[in-house]
Parts: sequence; structure tokens; C-alpha cells
Amino acid sequence: MTKPRTATLAALGAFVLAGCADPDTADSNGSDTVQAVATFTILTDIVEEIGGEHVAVHNLVPVGQDPHEYDSRPADTTALSDADVFFVNGLNLEGGEQGWAARMADSVELPEEHRIVTTEGVEPLYLTEGVEDSVNPHAFLDPNVGVIMAENVAAGLVEIDPDNAEAYEHNLSEYVAQLNAIHDRYQQQIGDLEEDRRVLVTSERAFQYVADRYDLLEGYIWAVDTDDIGTPDQIISLIDFVEEHQPPALFLESNVTPAPMETVSDDTGVEIHAILYSDELAPEGEPGDTYVGMLEENLNRIADGLQQ
Ligand SMILES: [Zn+2]
Repeated sequence: MTKPRTATLAALGAFVLAGCADPDTADSNGSDTVQAVATFTILTDIVEEIGGEHVAVHNLVPVGQDPHEYDSRPADTTALSDADVFFVNGLNLEGGEQGWAARMADSVELPEEHRIVTTEGVEPLYLTEGVEDSVNPHAFLDPNVGVIMAENVAAGLVEIDPDNAEAYEHNLSEYVAQLNAIHDRYQQQIGDLEEDRRVLVTSERAFQYVADRYDLLEGYIWAVDTDDIGTPDQIISLIDFVEEHQPPALFLESNVTPAPMETVSDDTGVEIHAILYSDELAPEGEPGDTYVGMLEENLNRIADGLQQ
């Protein structure tokens, strides 16, 4: 291991002396790959897309666990101690300024300038109107917000690794084109639904940004996963909503307990049509295991369920 590394460093030194350091050559031994940490699977995928070969990402909250609350593992602390940059969602997803991600970063004394809040610039929506700390974290379910997050990721990487700025900007422009194409599909497929079918019922109120953007009426059992979930009052209130608005289908998220929505389905006779992803990607190898793929799966399942 030592020999090739020395040789590469020597070669790199020669480039620098000659005043023409080639970022690709400099990167080929892997020694200056940016070490990034991201809080959950959706963000990890965005960072991997923008970072490409120049960035290695350690993901914190795995598929199947809730990013609203998280107990870190020793490997996470090690990764964060070694990290050049830490990407968080913000908007209270990771528990806010005193939340688990901030506490982790503080515990390893990660400098403030290495913490990137990727929803910077996103217009927040609130679970309770006028209540500042009731901001809904799930902005990433709107592909337009994905564009802002990808831009913030790219800006963070350019700042930390300016030598590869061109690569990050190139990856960003390709990625934004994909997200814009998905936005067009959301607009078209949801826009094609008749007015009285545009009712999206999920367990958690995770789809507020999607509903706001594409004009859907939201029904839900609980506002956010950190609250009490599936209380009798909450279930009765959604049953009333379903009876009033008659949605063609109900949906269940991949990371929630199914029993409350099953109760609503049994009681109203409206079927649970499909699983949606609200806080995480699909397990690796399944449709929806990338951010772009997850947005597509959500759209296909919603459009399919509501047009039947
Ligand atoms: Zn959630």
C-alpha cells in the first residue's frame, strides 16, 4: 500500500510544481476523497449523486428507522469525527437545533462551517398554522425542494473541495434536469385526476408540501411521527374525514405501524392501495431505492390509487 501511495503523491507533487494539478489524477489514489456524513437515506443518495467519485458518504439513520429520533452507533461517531462535511435536512427533521444530529456534531466538535443545512432557502410549511416550531420536515417529498437541496449539497462540496467544483456543478445540472422532469410528471399526472379524487390519505402528515404544490386535499391520522400516533381520537377523526371526502384509496407509509390505517380501512371500506415513502428510501434493490426513484414510485402509486 505504501509504495503506490508514495508514487502517486510524488506524481501529484510534480503536477503542483508544474502548476497544472489535475483533480482527477489527484483523486485517483482516493487519498483526498471528501469524507461526508448525511443524516438519512434520502439525503445520502443526493450527496452521492452530486459527489460522484469524489465523495464517500456515511449514512446515519438506516432504512426502517425514523429520522425524527435516532440513537447513534459508535461507527457513526467515528465517521462524524473524521468527516470533512456533515449534511443535515434541517426543518426540524433531526429534532432541530437541540436535536440528535446537532448533539452528535457538538460531541465531536465539528466546526459550524462544516455543517450544511440542505433545506436552507426552502419555504417552510407548518403543521399548525402560526406555530413556529411546528414546521413540517418532509419538504423533500416535493421534487422542487429536491432541487434546492441538491444545490445546497453542491455548494457545500464546492466550498470544501474547490478542486472538483466543475464535477460537482456538472453532476448538479444533470440531477436538476431529472428532478425537473419528475416535477413535470407530478404536475401532469396529479393534474389529470378529477377534482374529487385528489384526496391523499396517509398515516403521518408527511405529504403537506406535495399536497400544497400539486393541489391535493390531505387526510392523515397524526401530524408527525414524534407525536402520539394512532390514538382513538385521531383514528375517529380520519374516519370522519374519509366518510366526508370519499377518497378512492388510502395509503400507508413504509416506516409506520399499519394498524391505525387498517382500522380506518376496515371501518370505512376504502382499501389501502399501496405503500408510500415519507422518511426514507425503499430497501436497496427495490423500486424507489434512490431519491429520484422514490419520488417516481410515490407518484405512480398515488396516481394509480386515486384514478381507479
Ligand atoms: Zn416523517
